[in-house]
Amino acid sequence: SSLVIAVDGTSGSGKSSTSRGVAGRLGLRYLDTGAMFRAMTWWLLSEGVDVHDAEAVSAAANRPRIESGTDPLAPTITVDGVDVSVEIRSAEVNAAVSPVSAVPAVRTRLLELQREAIGDGGIVVEGRDIGSVVWPQAEVKVYLSADPDARAERRAAEEGGADLARTQQSLLERDRIDSGRATAPLTMADGAVHVDSTHLTLDEVIETIVGLVGS
Ligand code: C5P
Repeated sequence: SSLVIAVDGTSGSGKSSTSRGVAGRLGLRYLDTGAMFRAMTWWLLSEGVDVHDAEAVSAAANRPRIESGTDPLAPTITVDGVDVSVEIRSAEVNAAVSPVSAVPAVRTRLLELQREAIGDGGIVVEGRDIGSVVWPQAEVKVYLSADPDARAERRAAEEGGADLARTQQSLLERDRIDSGRATAPLTMADGAVHVDSTHLTLDEVIETIVGLVGS
């Protein structure tokens, strides 16, 4: 299959579980582009690069080798051959990933890796700018959203009962930066279908998206 399904949306809207579920249902690969930005951020932090210094971040952006495994049942992300799937979910990375993602050199580098990973298609790709920038020709484009309360509850549960108010604050802060940046801001792509997951179960969201294929 050469099908490409683009799933964009805010943090905590259920993008990852939804995208993996859709890929599983349709026998497609899965690419988590947020994990690539997180991996870049993790590497910059581990190298001691000041993530708020855009010039320093630009100068370093081509150095790490970042590779994504695209099995929806067991997605992986490595930096220079080391699996960082757990490390990229830390509070430190959460706090630094939006400013890093706003640096054009970071986006250019990862855009290249994302297009390489998509290749001939057969993949569900989740992110912020997949339908608008990375793969505007995607056959199916979804913009997934949910109310802030629902998003914070889901994310806090994923993080094993993290503090709800703090989780919500961190999500909203990332949304604010992701939506306001000059390069590839989070917006609804041309031709995207808006799916609000606030009052839907995961299975219902997956069914909705599967139903868009070939329609
Ligand atoms: O999806 P996730 O929350 O893991 O993404 C982490 C961060 O990576 C986002 O807050 C955003 O700053 C950045 N990102 C991006 N473009 C993408 C995917 C993620 O800027 N396509």
